[in-house]
Amino acid sequence: MQALFPDADVFIVDDLTSVTWSAYFPDQGRNTFILVDENTRKYCLPAVQRFLPESTIIEIPSGEGNKHIATCQIIWKALLDAAADRKATLLNLGGGVIGDMGGFVASTYKRGIDFVQMPTTLLSQVDASVGGKLGVDFDGLKNVIGVFRQPKAVFIHSNFLDTLPANQLMSGFAEILKHGLIADAAYWNSLQSVNPLEHNDWADIIARSVAIKQDVVTADPLEKGRRKILNFGHTLGHAIETWSLTAEDQPLLHGEAIAIGMIGETYLSQRHAGLPSEDASAIMATLQQWYPKRHIPSDAVDTIISLLANDKKNEGKVVMYSLLRSIGDCTFDIAVPESAAREAIEFYQSL
Ligand code: NAD
Ligand code: ZN
Repeated sequence: MQALFPDADVFIVDDLTSVTWSAYFPDQGRNTFILVDENTRKYCLPAVQRFLPESTIIEIPSGEGNKHIATCQIIWKALLDAAADRKATLLNLGGGVIGDMGGFVASTYKRGIDFVQMPTTLLSQVDASVGGKLGVDFDGLKNVIGVFRQPKAVFIHSNFLDTLPANQLMSGFAEILKHGLIADAAYWNSLQSVNPLEHNDWADIIARSVAIKQDVVTADPLEKGRRKILNFGHTLGHAIETWSLTAEDQPLLHGEAIAIGMIGETYLSQRHAGLPSEDASAIMATLQQWYPKRHIPSDAVDTIISLLANDKKNEGKVVMYSLLRSIGDCTFDIAVPESAAREAIEFYQSL
């Protein structure tokens, strides 16, 4: 078990036997709960359950479409029915949906019980499980109800990725590329030789990505300033994701939407943050290589633009972006007019 930071319990775990389970789940008997969905119950729970044999399993249906308050009610009720008290610990075994929602439920149940994140998707291993942002979608908007709270520990076991579908792997890889773009040009360069669909030794990449995220989050835990660089690709990306969730039969995954958002925001970075055109071309070539063009119908553009104004990251009506000055250097709080955002989406449509 490799501790990634001296003062935060984030571990890369090669072998689950090396976890000091009793330290994190002191009241094994009736006060340990494991939150899963049908997939992580099947693929991930067997490896974990033998270390926590007396725990209570709470299963919810998988998918972003279930990341809402009604599912939280199911989890709160299961905790209550099992008489979970304030010393209970909830282990969130799953992707970002399980981690964000399980963490939110734990943070609010009896004013907060301990929770441990055990992310099982690439996206949640490099991104969602670190940083303390928890919550659910509400009223058609992503992550608008939530809190900041730190888990007791994060255990990242990359073997879980063996059963992950390819599109989910690609979704996580988008966040990995983002980490290079916003903070570490050498990392970005090294990622050019990684084929995510063939790669199977993820531990070093996960460690580097988590270190970048943790660094940024430690400097600014509540997102008053520098943490906003993690939003590169996410202003346009979230609006496109939200549109896709309601309008499309096969909605974009989070990272797939962020890849489109990063193409659009690379376009904006050239015009509003001085990103050199050779950097922009290199970024777009890599993103287009891994993320085949998705059709965005013309009549969706107005919807996407109106969703931008609702983005929780914006103050008042001015839409602020985190944009690249160069590969590895991201700036934030750049006001971009609506007309430019529209151009960026139209640019993507024209590719
Ligand atoms: P997800 O949680 O929906 O998981 C994707 C799918 O993979 C699900 O069907 C799940 O059941 C399945 N799955 C999970 N682990 C598996 C495994 N090992 N083998 C086989 N199947 C497995 O999606 P995600 O991409 O992990 O997370 C997306 C969510 O994370 C979004 O809601 C997003 O808002 C959130 N997020 C949060 C933060 C944050 O800072 N809190 C950051 C980024 C994203
Ligand atoms: Zn993201």
